[in-house]
Amino acid sequence: MDGLFFLLLLTGAALVWLSRRWAADAGLPHGRLISVDLERQGQAAPTLIDAELGLTGRPDALLETRRGRVPVEIKSGAAPDQPHASHVLQLMAYCRLVQAASGRRPPYGILKYADRAFEVPYSRRAEAELKRAIQSIQALGADLPDRSHDDPARCAACGFVAACDQRLAPAEGGWL
Ligand code: SF4
Repeated sequence: MDGLFFLLLLTGAALVWLSRRWAADAGLPHGRLISVDLERQGQAAPTLIDAELGLTGRPDALLETRRGRVPVEIKSGAAPDQPHASHVLQLMAYCRLVQAASGRRPPYGILKYADRAFEVPYSRRAEAELKRAIQSIQALGADLPDRSHDDPARCAACGFVAACDQRLAPAEGGWL
């Protein structure tokens, strides 16, 4: 029994260490790390679901900040002058998922590029734009053309990833 307890303790400590190292490597802004999607290490974060909008997904990380819980989306490339619209849409979908899961509206989401992080406000306007984008996809219904590529990286950068039923999972880490 003592051996099992020790093993659990060791596993817990290893996960905490892995999460902290991941956050440090990613250069995340300050905040208490409450969830990291370590799928590559066999520790995928829980999938978040918004049944109302038909969204599912897993942000790369969740941070508890002084202003509330915020999702983090990590992009490996260098930061553009302004975040790409598709990245913002993807991040807003994660904000909406956090809202659905926690019952609290995140004040913003974080887009972390290799060399810079952006705090993107989860405004009512941003949420309305997200809903419009989702409604556009849903309106296409059966007319939606089949996926024309076999490139997970393209899906990873796509703003519709949380609402798309043809998305490709990335080879390493990522969402559902
Ligand atoms: S398959 Fe879906 S998630 Fe992937 S690029 Fe196309 S629309 Fe975006």
